[in-house]
Amino acid sequence: MPIANNQQEEIEALRSLIEETPDPVGLYVGREMRIQLANKAIKQTWGKWDVVGKTFREVLPELDEQGFYKLLDQVYTTGELYEAKQQEVVLTIDGVPKLFYFDFAYTPLKKADGTVWAVLNTAKDLTELVLARQRLSEAEARTRFVLDSVGIGSWDLDVVNRLVWWDDRCRELFGLTNTDIIPYEEVFKFIHHADRFMVDAAVNDALNPAKGGNYNVKFRTSGVENDKVKWLHCQGKAYFDAEGKPYRFSGIAQDITEAVASEEKIRSAEQLTQLAIEAAGAGTFFIDMLNNEMIYSPSLGRVLGGLEQENISREQFVNFLHPDDTDKRAKAYEEGFKTGKLSYEARFIWKDGSIHWVKTLGSFIFDPDGNPVVLMGVSMDITTEIEQREEQERLLLLIENTNDFISLSSPEGFVTYVNKAGLELLGFENIDEAKRPNMDYIMPDELPKLQEQINPSLLSEGQWSGHINFRHFVSKEPIPGYGTTFLLKDRYSDRLLGRATIFRDLRSEMASQKALAESEQLFRGITTASPAALWMSDDNAQIIYVNKIWIDWTGVPLEGHLGEGWLNYVMAEDVEKASAKFLSDFNGRKFHESHFRIKNPNGTERWVVCTGNPQYNSDGRFTGYIGACVDITDQKQLQQQKDEFIGIASHELKTPVTSIKAYSQVLEAMFRRNGDEQKANMVLKMNTQIDRLTNLISDLLDVTKIQSGRLQFNHSYFNFDEMITELIEDLQRTTQRHKIKAEIHPVGEVYADRDRISQVIVNLITNAIKYSPDSEDIIVKAELNNKEVEVCVQDFGIGIDEDKQPYVFEQFYRVSGDKQHTFPGLGLGLYISSEIIKREGGRIWVNSVYGKGSTFCFSLSQNRI
Ligand code: ADP
Repeated sequence: MPIANNQQEEIEALRSLIEETPDPVGLYVGREMRIQLANKAIKQTWGKWDVVGKTFREVLPELDEQGFYKLLDQVYTTGELYEAKQQEVVLTIDGVPKLFYFDFAYTPLKKADGTVWAVLNTAKDLTELVLARQRLSEAEARTRFVLDSVGIGSWDLDVVNRLVWWDDRCRELFGLTNTDIIPYEEVFKFIHHADRFMVDAAVNDALNPAKGGNYNVKFRTSGVENDKVKWLHCQGKAYFDAEGKPYRFSGIAQDITEAVASEEKIRSAEQLTQLAIEAAGAGTFFIDMLNNEMIYSPSLGRVLGGLEQENISREQFVNFLHPDDTDKRAKAYEEGFKTGKLSYEARFIWKDGSIHWVKTLGSFIFDPDGNPVVLMGVSMDITTEIEQREEQERLLLLIENTNDFISLSSPEGFVTYVNKAGLELLGFENIDEAKRPNMDYIMPDELPKLQEQINPSLLSEGQWSGHINFRHFVSKEPIPGYGTTFLLKDRYSDRLLGRATIFRDLRSEMASQKALAESEQLFRGITTASPAALWMSDDNAQIIYVNKIWIDWTGVPLEGHLGEGWLNYVMAEDVEKASAKFLSDFNGRKFHESHFRIKNPNGTERWVVCTGNPQYNSDGRFTGYIGACVDITDQKQLQQQKDEFIGIASHELKTPVTSIKAYSQVLEAMFRRNGDEQKANMVLKMNTQIDRLTNLISDLLDVTKIQSGRLQFNHSYFNFDEMITELIEDLQRTTQRHKIKAEIHPVGEVYADRDRISQVIVNLITNAIKYSPDSEDIIVKAELNNKEVEVCVQDFGIGIDEDKQPYVFEQFYRVSGDKQHTFPGLGLGLYISSEIIKREGGRIWVNSVYGKGSTFCFSLSQNRI
């Protein structure tokens, strides 16, 4: 049913809504601005109550001073709307001037001929917006009040027994307070005698099936029991059975005294109500629950997004509800059927697709069987409030859950709020305990700081930060920490609202700092006590620390070694090698190991071996190296002595062994000549052992020569293929088990030391024989590749572990393991071979799989000149 059909009632409803709307509405008539209407909100804002009938200037002299009367006059005379945003207004409330902020409009109201007859003042109080939460709850309370004060009573007529049931409100309206069921005829006692006949006729009409069953009358009460006469508006409906007999007649009653009294004044109020409702931003609706018909104000259409022009049904209205919120609405109705009150917040999707939060509050009217017959209510757009509430809730949640102490206090320093962490920190059981002067929060010896520093700084700067000792509420123990306190000001008026304080407990930080200092001291102690020199670099290969030992060794203070300074104290001959090795290990983030000599200005020299490991922090970021250097001067000296001894010993051994060899050869020849084959063979065996001894001695001599740099080379051209074929034939004779297969691709002439190269090949083939006791094949390959001679000796023997392979070319290195003693040797052959190949400018390497066999190879340039 569209609103226009029931204009008068709608106007009544809207009037009472204006009265209760949370936003100020005032109507000033004539050029003298006589106040004809001032709703509760505007009176509250003004702080003045007895205002209707007086002029604007009389009631609000302070606004006249601020130029508002002039503005009203301008609107009145020009007929032009005046609107202001966030206007500052000072109102004198109870004799005290107070600052407010308003969005407001002065709207001229015109007669049919276009002349202005009044100015409508609508406003939005922004002062309260700042305290959104408070405003929200106030608005809610007011709206609830709107509904309650709508004050509708309901009644039911038992057509057969002619008895009337009426609810408390209804009885109150009629002026009767006790019985809730009375005979129909008795009702007339409470109706004004002049209206009795009219009411009875209307009831009879309603009960006449031919007339549609509607009942709608306005009448006066008789004013019993000293009650004054009221105007009531009764609406109802009769229901008929199949035979056309009425079985039920029920409806509502509403007090319209005030509306009727001011009926004349409202004549031009339609315009007024439209504007006022707009200012209030709320819409009203009335639903007949029996036939599901809905009447709603145009402003409800606006709340739902541009539907004011349309005449939508209740079903259509529900269709605008956000699908996720339909359950919410259904639950609210379920609850409302029980309690009589409807209340829910739900999203509506406007025609333009935007989503709006709408709060709906309503009251149900029930028939005697408890079925809802009528629902009246208000809907308003609360999107902004919801957003503010959410924002505020988020902030509150943040504050509540932060680990730091946060408090709010009055400008004078009386604490009104402390967050959860704060209560816990200070040992308060609840917020009430915490409500006390801020002096109680700090240690007594901090009071002078409060007076001499904090308060003055708050006054001059608006804030203070610094170290301060709080006090535990229960134990009275100090809590050292860092605090910040600042003044809170109203964002519009700069008015002082209070103080906020944030405090961070620094105990654990201080404890860990102490622990850090202690551990640093411990670390220093250890490094100083360490017999090794310790060093540390940053992630840029710059030295950032060396310990006392290194400083003592070099005789140069720490500063001298920082960055790359340490290289200045490395012996000149070793600088390049030490620096290159460090950088290459560093750049590869590899374990670093390097041997070099360092010097001390007093002339002493020291051999050191330095090692280091890359370091990573907890995030896995590389931070530099930490390492140690050990003094190996003594070992180096011992090694030198040992080398010298081996050199002398092997040299001294060589001469007698050579003569023994000569004699034994003579002896063998003599036995053979005499036909004594048995003895000759024994001497031959002796000879073989003497050869082994000679070989060992010559290996040892080679090593000494290599170390002293005296290994001689005699270069000449020779046929490489011939040489290698001869060697293979010779070595094949020394073994019965193995088959040495030659895969020689002709190499031709080579310029090198024939004997030394033979020595290498012999060594590789001998090893292949020695370390493959259980297999037969040994493959010797030779070929020319880009003028490089490459020789490989492959066996299928015991093989070498991958991690041992890099060391086999080192002096005295023998792969240890259970088989070590099965294979005789000194661990010199590969060392000598690799030194020879290096000296010849070539490369030597190994490929091996443990348990499968090894391939040792070397390559040489064919023509070294
Ligand atoms: P050794 O006199 O011990 O043979 P080498 O310098 O010739 O000394 O070899 C060093 C070590 O390398 C040997 O002790 C052995 O463990 C390992 N090795 C050398 N050649 C082979 C090979 N063909 N197969 C397995 N291990 C080998």
